[in-house]
Amino acid sequence: IAKNPGEVEFHQAVHEVAESLIPYIEENPKYKVAKILERIAEPERVIIFRVPWLDDKGEVQVNRGFRIEMNSAIGPYKGGLRFHPTVNLGILKFLAFEQVFKNSLTTLPMGGGKGGSDFDPKGKSDNEVMKFTQSFMSELFRHIGPDTDVPAGDIGVGGREIGFLFGQYKRLRNEFTGVLTGKGREWGGSLIRPEATGYGCTYFAEEMLKTRNDSLKGKTVLVSGSGNVAQFAVQKVTQLGGKVVTLSDSSGFIHDPKGIDAEKLAYLMNLKNVKRGRIKEYADKFGCEYYEGKRPWSIKCDVALPCATQNEVNAEDAMALVANGCFVVSEGANMPSTPEAVEVFLKNKILYGPGKAANAGGVAVSGLEMTQNSMRLSWSREEVDAKLHQIMCDIHETCVKFGKDADGYINYVNGANIGGFVKVADAMLAQGLV
Ligand code: NDP
Repeated sequence: IAKNPGEVEFHQAVHEVAESLIPYIEENPKYKVAKILERIAEPERVIIFRVPWLDDKGEVQVNRGFRIEMNSAIGPYKGGLRFHPTVNLGILKFLAFEQVFKNSLTTLPMGGGKGGSDFDPKGKSDNEVMKFTQSFMSELFRHIGPDTDVPAGDIGVGGREIGFLFGQYKRLRNEFTGVLTGKGREWGGSLIRPEATGYGCTYFAEEMLKTRNDSLKGKTVLVSGSGNVAQFAVQKVTQLGGKVVTLSDSSGFIHDPKGIDAEKLAYLMNLKNVKRGRIKEYADKFGCEYYEGKRPWSIKCDVALPCATQNEVNAEDAMALVANGCFVVSEGANMPSTPEAVEVFLKNKILYGPGKAANAGGVAVSGLEMTQNSMRLSWSREEVDAKLHQIMCDIHETCVKFGKDADGYINYVNGANIGGFVKVADAMLAQGLV
C-alpha cells in the first residue's frame, strides 16, 4: 500500500488474490523462495503519456494515456483499453493484474496487460473520437505489436474505436497485422468476438448450475449495464430459456417484469450502439419502471449477472440478492462485487463465479482472433462458439479442481485465483529472475 499510494482498486484486487494464494504458497514453498507473489504484483512496465487533440470547436484538449504491461511469462501482453473519465493508474493496474490470472485460465498463451485513457466518449462526435484515438495511437504504437502486446476493447472502446486505432497503427507501421483484437469482420476480426464475454459469462452460469443439477431454463435473471457484455448476456440467457428483467447504465436501471425478448434487445442495441442513448429511453418505449440513480439488486431473481463496472454490488446489495432468493452470481464485469459482497455470497454458499473466470470468454475469443490472424484464415461462427463454450467449461473445471472445499462447496474465488496462478508462476520460475 505504501509503495502504490492511492491505488485503491489495485490494493483491493491484490488483497483478494493474496488471500487465496498465501495458504497455497505456504504448501508450495518454491513459489515463496522465488518471491513469485511479490513479483506478480509488480507490473513489468507502465507507460503513461500525454494525448493532445483538437475538438470540433478547434480547441485544444489534453487527456492522459496509459498502458500497463503486467506480465509476459506465458505470452504477449493482452488486455483491453478503457476510455472512461474515471480511468486512473490504480484502476488500470487492478484490471491488468486480474487479466494475468484470467488469461492463464483460458488455457491460451497470453500474458496480461490493460490500458486506456480518462477520455470520455460520451457526447463526442465521431470526428472527435477519431482525432483522440489517432493521437492516442501515435504514442501507443511504439510499445505494442502482434508478438509484444495486443490491446482490445473495454468500457468505451468498441468496434468504432478499434477501427480508428487499427487504422492509425497500420499507417504508422506500414503493416497489416493482428495488433489489436475486436477488429471488424472484414479486416481481420473474429466471428463471435462481440458476443464472447456475455455468452461466456452465461455459459459459466450454466456450468455452475449443472453442479446442482439445475439450468437457466425458467430462471429470472438480473443484468446490470447495457453495453457490449450486458447485451449479449441478455441474448444468451434468453436463448437458454431464462428471463432477463433488468438493465442499467450509469444513470439508473429499468425493470421489465415481462422480460427482455429478442425484439426489445434489438431496440436496446440500436439505442446504445447507434443512437448512443440512455437506458431510460427503454422504459419510455416499453412502458416499464425506471429507477434514477439506482442499481437493480433489490429486484427478486434467481440469477444475477453484473455486467457494468467495478464495485457495483456492495454488501447491502449482496444481502438483498440472497434474501430475495438469488443463488447464482456470474460476473460479466471486472470485480463488480466489493470484498464485503463476496463475503456474503461465500458465507451463504451460493454459486458465485468471479469475473476473472466468468468473463474470460472475451479474451479467450480475442486469443482465437490472434490465432486466426497468424494463420491468415477465419473460422465459422459455429467453430468459434464451440471453442468458446469448451474454454468456459475448461475454466469451470479448473475452478472446481482448485476450489472445492472439504464440505464439497465450490469456492470459485480460490479456484480461479490458484488455477490462474500456477501456470504463470511455473513459467516465471522456469524463466529465472526477469
Ligand atoms: P461498455 O462500454 O459497452 O458498457 C459499459 C456499461 O456499464 C454501460 O452500460 C455503462 O453505462 C455502464 N457503466 C460504466 N461505468 C459505469 C459506472 N461507473 N457506474 C455505472 N454504470 C457504469 O463496456 P463493456 O460492456 O465492454 O464492459 C462492461 C464490463 O465488462 C467492464 O467491467 C469490463 O471491464 C468488463 N469486461 C468486458 C469485456 C469485453 O469483452 N467487452 C471482457 C471482460 C470484461 P454508461 O453508458 O452510462 O457509462
